Amino acid sequence: MDEGHTGVYEDALCRVREIGESAGIEAEVIESLLRPRQVLTCSLPVRMDDGSVNYFTGYRCQYNDVLGPTKGGIRFHPDVTDEEVKALALWMTLKCALVGLPFGGAKGGVVVQPKALSPMELERLSRAYVRAMADFIGPQVDIPAPDVYTNARIMGWMMDEYEAIRRVRSPGVITGKPVRLGGSLGREEATGRGAYICIRELAKRKGWQPDQIRVAVQGFGNAAYHVARLLARDGYKVVAISDSKGGIYSEQGFDIESLWQEKQKSRQVRAVYCEQSVCQLVEHKEISNEELLALDVDLLIPAALEGVIHSGNVESVRASTLVEVANGPVEAEAEHWLDEQGITVVPDVLANAGGVTVSYFEWVQNRTGYPWSLEQVRERLETQMGEAFDRVWHLSQTEARTLRGAAYSVALRRIGEAVTAHGTREYFGGQDG
Ligand code: GLU
Repeated sequence: MDEGHTGVYEDALCRVREIGESAGIEAEVIESLLRPRQVLTCSLPVRMDDGSVNYFTGYRCQYNDVLGPTKGGIRFHPDVTDEEVKALALWMTLKCALVGLPFGGAKGGVVVQPKALSPMELERLSRAYVRAMADFIGPQVDIPAPDVYTNARIMGWMMDEYEAIRRVRSPGVITGKPVRLGGSLGREEATGRGAYICIRELAKRKGWQPDQIRVAVQGFGNAAYHVARLLARDGYKVVAISDSKGGIYSEQGFDIESLWQEKQKSRQVRAVYCEQSVCQLVEHKEISNEELLALDVDLLIPAALEGVIHSGNVESVRASTLVEVANGPVEAEAEHWLDEQGITVVPDVLANAGGVTVSYFEWVQNRTGYPWSLEQVRERLETQMGEAFDRVWHLSQTEARTLRGAAYSVALRRIGEAVTAHGTREYFGGQDG
């Protein structure tokens, strides 16, 4: 575990405390967010293809449910820890509140290198996770979704396992499913599209001309692909992109679509890029992920994992704007330096909220049994994200806050309203000794 991960939860709590206090949020409300409601840790026995049994550690943290059933993805990654899952669940709590969804926050994870599993082992692991969690999750209780290294197919297996255990159709137990299994149109692209909407809104306020804006994207998973694709379509120059193995850089900008096709074939950006036909389209050079973060670009989009920008490398950042498509890519301490330099950071809880927003739409469709068209999904995503961006931007201007400060304030005030609706010390105080 590198240094970046160890304090991730503590870091997340610090931000809530700091921002909450400066925004005048009641102490009782802040206090309620300084601990998770419950965390389940379990050992998942999985029969491997060679006949042996492996035990994987799985987590699910339901952080806070004051605004509704808890919601959040499940990641499969070797570096998953309970601290990380708690931090991610806290961020989900803020994210859902900020976008105005009737959900609390949760997150799950399994400590596993999924690329080392066969498809059948992956299926058994996904089902084992749900068997362990079946009493803990549910359409009115806690609703998982995809996250790092999990996808629609895995959500489909998980729903199927849940339904087999409960002996009842229950599509609303999980979101991000394949469309034919009750998933929503537009869910796949939603995180990237949500980030794209934020960038478009930001561009209006900053007076950007897309063809003047050079973009570097760290990561090339689902969210990174869609945001890069939509930006390139508008004329932005996506000059760098990477995956866990490394990155590529091209002065003229990449054709995202063909790069994605190549990745699908080879599942690796750097190694295959040159061997395939895409390399004939543009000149490119190989760079490391560290180099990508330090590129002289206008817009830097960390879209991989948390903690990639920390006090050790933040001073090499040269972009004037950061859009956090990953959850928690900038450590709290490093952010102070970015603020001092006047670098704009569109925070994760806003920039990547499109995913959970369409998850909410999927859940609504499952509950009503009435699927929406792609146009309806996109239109409602536009409205929801546009309003959230507006509110955050307005608050940042009127209260002289960073965008993260403003986003957290909006979220904390909403959570605060729910907490005070039940009554706080101020209400009960002095009534009975
Ligand atoms: N894993 C995504 C996130 O971090 C989506 C969560 C969801 O759709 O519930 O926002």
